[in-house]
Amino acid sequence: MTPRFVRLDDGVLGRLREELGEGGLITAGDPLDRYSRDETEGLSFPPAAVALPSTAEQVARVLRLTHEAGVPVTPRGGGTGLSGGALAVHGGLVLSLERLDRIRAIDSHDMVVEAEAGVATGELHEAVEAQGLFYPPDPSSLASCHLGGNLAEDAAGPRSLRYGTTRQWVLGLEAVLPDGRPLRTGGRNRKDAAGYNLTQLLVGSEGTLAVITAAVLRLLPLPGATMSLLMPFGELESAAGAVEELCRTGDSLAACELVERRGIHAVAGIAPVPSALLEQEAVLFLELHGSHDEELLEAAARLAEVAERWGGAEVQAAQDAAEQRRLWAIRRQVGEALMAGSAYREADAVVPRSQLANLVRAARRVAAAHGLEVVCFGHAGDGNLHIDLLQGALPEERWRVAREAAQEELLDEVLSLGGSITGEHGVGWTLRGAFARTCPPEKLSLMRGVKELFDPRGLLNPGKIFTQEGA
Ligand SMILES: Cc1cc2nc3c(=O)[nH]c(=O)nc-3n(C[C@H](O)[C@H](O)[C@H](O)COP(=O)(O)OP(=O)(O)OC[C@H]3O[C@@H](n4cnc5c(N)ncnc54)[C@H](O)[C@@H]3O)c2cc1C
Repeated sequence: MTPRFVRLDDGVLGRLREELGEGGLITAGDPLDRYSRDETEGLSFPPAAVALPSTAEQVARVLRLTHEAGVPVTPRGGGTGLSGGALAVHGGLVLSLERLDRIRAIDSHDMVVEAEAGVATGELHEAVEAQGLFYPPDPSSLASCHLGGNLAEDAAGPRSLRYGTTRQWVLGLEAVLPDGRPLRTGGRNRKDAAGYNLTQLLVGSEGTLAVITAAVLRLLPLPGATMSLLMPFGELESAAGAVEELCRTGDSLAACELVERRGIHAVAGIAPVPSALLEQEAVLFLELHGSHDEELLEAAARLAEVAERWGGAEVQAAQDAAEQRRLWAIRRQVGEALMAGSAYREADAVVPRSQLANLVRAARRVAAAHGLEVVCFGHAGDGNLHIDLLQGALPEERWRVAREAAQEELLDEVLSLGGSITGEHGVGWTLRGAFARTCPPEKLSLMRGVKELFDPRGLLNPGKIFTQEGA
C-alpha cells in the first residue's frame, strides 16, 4: 500500500465550500486548533481544514471529492479518544460528524433506536430512558463522546461487565466508503446469517475502513431495580483479587469498577468526595441490576460476604438515586482528575479477570523500576485497568525516557498474563508501534488486506493502527 497524499489546495477547498456552505468548512483560526487535539496526552496535529457536513449525503459528496483529489481524511466524533485516532497525523481534512446529531426514531415495539453518528452518548441514554428503555454502553466520557466514536472504538464502560461492549448493541450501520459510495449493513433484524458480518467488521475499525453516519441499536427495558455499593479495601491487591469471586457470585452484578487511593484523592482535588473514601487504599464501585429491591438486597449481602473474605471493610450502599448518581460521578471523574494533576502515560491493559492482582503487582513493579508513580483504576469486572504512569516531580528528559521504557515493559507483562495491549481505547496512532511488535504476522497481514480492500488508496484515517503507511 503506497498512499500518495495530496495537499488540500484552493481548488478542492473551493469545491468543499460550495458543497458545505461558508459555515460548513473551517480553514483557519482557533476553531481549527480545537480539531488538532483529542484527549490523548501531548499530541497536536493541525489539519488543513475541517468539514462539518449535516447529512449523510453531504458526507458522501465530501468523500467523493477528497478521494478524487487524493486528500487524506480523518473522521472525528466528540474528540474524546485516548489513542490519537481522530487526529490528522498526515494533515488533510478532518471530517467531523458533530452535525449529524439526530435521533431518527425510537421504536419501542422492535426495541431499537436509529440515531446519527454525532449524537452524544449521554443524550441517547436520556432519550431512550424517557420512554422506559435502556441502552447499556456507558463510557465514562458519555457526556461528550459520540455514537460514531463509540462504534469506531467499540467503546465499553462500567456496565459492559453485564451487557458487553458497544458491538453487542449494534444491529445495523449506515456508512460511507472512502471513495464516497454509501454502504448499509444489517438493519433491524435481531439475526442475520447472510454472508460475512460487515456490521461487526466496521465496529472497532477506528475510522480506517468507512465513515459511519448512523446506526440501528438494540434496546432493553429499563432494569426494574438498581443498587450501588462501595467496597473499601485496605490493600489494592486484595481489591483486585476479590473481583473474580465477586463476578461469579450470582448474576446481579452489572458493574464492578476499581479505583485506588491516588485516583480517589485526584477526584477530591476537583469535586466533593466523602471523607471516608479518602482513607481507603482501594475502592470497588459496584452496580447491581435486577427486577426487585429484595432480590438485590440478597445479592448485596452475598457480595459483602465475599468482600469480607478478601479483607474488605464495611460495604456501604447508596441510599437513593441521587446518592447513586453522586457515587458514579466520582468514578467517572477519575481519568479527568488524573489528567488535570500531572503529565501521564496511560496503558489501557486488559487481562483475564483472574490475573487482575498480578496485573496491579506488575504495574507497581514496572513503575518502581523506572522511578515513576503509578495509579490503577477502571473496569475491573472486565479485567480492564487503566494504568497511569505519572510524571510527578520527574524532570522532563527523565520522564520522557522512563515513560517509554516503562510502557513497553508493562505491555509485555500484560501479554505474558494472557492480556491485550488495549481493552477499549484502540490502537490509533499511539499504539501502532506496540501493535506491530506484538501482533502475530499472519493476523497483521489479514488486517492490512482488509484495509486495502476498503481503502486501496489509503486515504481514510492514514497512520492509524498500522505502521509504515503513508509516512
Ligand atoms: C475522561 C474520559 C473517560 C473515558 N472513558 C472511557 C470509557 O469508559 N470507555 C471507553 O471505551 N472509552 C473511554 N474513553 C475514550 C473515548 O471517550 C472513547 O474512545 C469514545 O468512544 C470516543 O468517542 P468520540 O466520539 O470522542 O470519538 P473521537 O475521539 O472523535 O474518535 C475516536 C475514533 O473514532 C473514529 N471516528 C469517530 N467518529 C467516527 C465515525 N462517525 N465514523 C468512523 N470513524 C469515526 C475517529 O477517526 C477515531 O479513530 C474516555 C475518554 C476520556 C477523555
